[in-house]
Amino acid sequence: MRKKIVAGNWKMNKTADEATALLSEVVNMIKDEVTSDVRVVLCPPALYLTTSRQYLTAGGKISLGAQNCHEKASGAYTGEISAPMLQSIGVEYVILGHSERRQYFGETNAQLAEKVNIALENGLTPIFCCGESRDLRENGDYDAFVKNQITESLFHLSAEAFGNVVIAYEPIWAIGTGLTASSAQAQDMHFELRRHIAGQYGDTVAQDTSILYGGSANEKNAAELFAQSDVDGGLIGGASLKSREFTIVVKAVQ
Ligand code: 13P
Repeated sequence: MRKKIVAGNWKMNKTADEATALLSEVVNMIKDEVTSDVRVVLCPPALYLTTSRQYLTAGGKISLGAQNCHEKASGAYTGEISAPMLQSIGVEYVILGHSERRQYFGETNAQLAEKVNIALENGLTPIFCCGESRDLRENGDYDAFVKNQITESLFHLSAEAFGNVVIAYEPIWAIGTGLTASSAQAQDMHFELRRHIAGQYGDTVAQDTSILYGGSANEKNAAELFAQSDVDGGLIGGASLKSREFTIVVKAVQ
């Protein structure tokens, strides 16, 4: 049975005091709402991961995720953070290949394959992001494009290793725009991605893979999105920055 997951990607938001306040609110509001079948993952800026862990340990039911890691284990890479470092402070998940990192930091499918490898070698669960631009959506080439992101960054993995990866489908045109994919658009794409995974690893692995939706998911549309049979939760941006709204999204997945 695949896991249901709601992950909050805070991106580059919140000062230290604001982050602490949001974290304690979210932990308090969510801790009695999360059933054992649901995993909530909070991904604050890397600077706050250590402090955040103390809150999450107290809360118990919530995991900590990073928003990125470097593809090498250590070395002369000023300003970067490695997978072993994340693991050493109790981080369990890492978002990889977010469209903002692909766009602004030039991350490629090949580089992401290396990041996925080092994350898995260090016991982190990659939340691997894929998704098409508005142009690709409009000219109809999006399906092959998104499948290729998965092929090039993930299909070198053994079935066993792939079993530790979470996919997040985030159409770029829906991120931060208020333009959510309709639940039918999300379901169609998730179904296609699951079929693509089945083609490589077989039905059992595909059925066990959690595929999250991301892109303007919020307290109003989450229940309908999460009700789709191939949508296993969400990767939430803006709505994860408000404790009340995020709690409603978390409740919507169960
Ligand atoms: P929004 O929910 O703000 O559209 O962001 C989605 C996202 O990019 C999560 O990683």
